[in-house]
Amino acid sequence: MFGRYITKSPDETKELASKFTKDISQRDVIALIGDLGTGKTAFTQGFAKAIGVQESVGSPTFKLISEYQGVSFSLYHIDCYRLKNVQQFINIGGEEYIVSANGVTIIEWADIIEEILPDDTIKIHFKRIFDDLNHREIIVS
Ligand code: ADP
Ligand code: MG
Repeated sequence: MFGRYITKSPDETKELASKFTKDISQRDVIALIGDLGTGKTAFTQGFAKAIGVQESVGSPTFKLISEYQGVSFSLYHIDCYRLKNVQQFINIGGEEYIVSANGVTIIEWADIIEEILPDDTIKIHFKRIFDDLNHREIIVS
């Protein structure tokens, strides 16, 4: 699971995410870090589909956390895009939702709340590769 990957389309990013689900279990936290449009939501969608989520996963405007029911565990999708800082996240009570006993948590723009993430958080960095519009470098650590 750890390492550097190159994907050449949104579908390849979703496919990579679906492979990841095999190594992930309840209580795991996955932090997605990278600029707008680098594939964080695409990754989350691929992950959700692979664990059996029926609903479509998006980027809701007013919601910080969305919960989706998979076949054997839930997915908690947190998007920190609209947060100014970690204090704001703590003030609205987000901290208690980071680790979930019955599910996996995927956090977009996780760099904003990095200081309160568990030590064993799986970090995934997304970057554009400028020789092709549809290429992304995805580094898992
Ligand atoms: P983020 O959540 O990081 O802002 P999104 O997943 O919402 O990004 O959007 C990624 C955008 O980049 C989509 O428009 C998608 O079609 C496009 N795209 C192009 N190539 C890739 C790729 N290799 N992986 C993921 N998305 C890609
Ligand atoms: Mg997104």
